[in-house]
Amino acid sequence: MTSVVKILPRAPWNPPSEAVRRCLAALGEPAPEGAREPVCAFVYDLTALREHVRAMLAGLPQSCRLYYAVKANPDRRLIETLAPLVAGFEAASIGEIRRIREVSDSVRVIFGGPGKKDTELEEALTLGVERIHVESLHELRRLNLIAERRGRVVPILLRVNLHDALPEATVTMAGRATQFGIDEAQVEEVIEEAQCSPALQLDGFHMHSISNNLDARLHARLVATYLSRVRGWAERFDLKIRCLDAGGGFGVSYDERPDFDWAAFLEALRPQLAADPLPGAELLFEPGRYIAAFCGYYVAEVIDLKQSHGRYFAILRGGTHHFRLPASWQHDHPFEVLPCHLWPYPFPRPELNGQRVTLAGELCTPKDVLAREVAVGRLRVGDLVLFHRAGAYGWTISHHDFLGHSHPRHLYLDDKEPVS
Ligand SMILES: *Cc1c(COP(=O)(O)O)cnc(C)c1O
Repeated sequence: MTSVVKILPRAPWNPPSEAVRRCLAALGEPAPEGAREPVCAFVYDLTALREHVRAMLAGLPQSCRLYYAVKANPDRRLIETLAPLVAGFEAASIGEIRRIREVSDSVRVIFGGPGKKDTELEEALTLGVERIHVESLHELRRLNLIAERRGRVVPILLRVNLHDALPEATVTMAGRATQFGIDEAQVEEVIEEAQCSPALQLDGFHMHSISNNLDARLHARLVATYLSRVRGWAERFDLKIRCLDAGGGFGVSYDERPDFDWAAFLEALRPQLAADPLPGAELLFEPGRYIAAFCGYYVAEVIDLKQSHGRYFAILRGGTHHFRLPASWQHDHPFEVLPCHLWPYPFPRPELNGQRVTLAGELCTPKDVLAREVAVGRLRVGDLVLFHRAGAYGWTISHHDFLGHSHPRHLYLDDKEPVS
């Protein structure tokens, strides 16, 4: 059998800072007394997160706003770090709204997502959300009723599923049949209903059509499509557009392709905005992955090495129950090996040298794999494997309690504060 040669990006992709390296080195040290627990942790570099978001904001045109889609990583420390920087947060459940409100009772929150319950809509209004993204006619009617009973007028955006296909992205939420938003063919009916709903104020539209798109120019074209559609509806229905939410979906590369080029995107966007298609309207972006991915690392110690049917496997203290992203997206997650010199046993240390190895976790399922048949240099039992770009869609998309292994540590590095 010939094995496919996979090219992983050159390590390090976004090199961990010195502070992160020092923290990792400390994790690998011998315990002062008793048996040492093998290393397994998420490490977040909050300083790097802050710098990354500042760089994103630096080039943002005046009419644009940057929100953070909390579902990518709802960790309280990330929300606290981002709250003073971003214009607001996008939440997709009442649980996310509560988390944001625990950090700040004044930061702006927009509430989207399919399947909002009446109880969620009620509590969202109590918790002072800025706007609600309405995803269906039925939801619009329910929200109007709830707002009417409270004597409130609630600002809304209509989330639309456009008909244009966007084949280049890995996952698309629009341009085809999905459970998200209002089908473009039904939008006019919903606009008319919104216009005669006394407790709702239609501020504009929301379109989140694409996920993990790496192509900046394609993304700018997508926003141009959104702008022209919204202008069409505004003219036809004499709407005062206050906001177009163009969603998230800016891509992070997990292989040799380059990341989404944020600067090139803004460059391509500028002439479109200069034409001022929606006077006075804000253009919102609500990335999750592109904000949170780079600042997070997942590190797991090699517990065992074995050869099986001619293939090599490393078994890690950890796996997809902590970090399901590579299994869910079916990719080989980028990593580097951190050699660890500690060897406490009185017998030889198992090691591989230059073989292709599959990095498997500690679960009793063959699906517990983080990277398959990838080339590593030297890999020994007791070394650490550091997965990069693990800050988004990592811990909270994973099935933590399957098999009942203990959870990883969560460590935060911040030049403002010591490690906690
Ligand atoms: C998930 C989601 C986002 C964030 O998507 P990313 O791909 O992480 O940028 C933004 N908006 C909505 C409505 C979403 O569902």
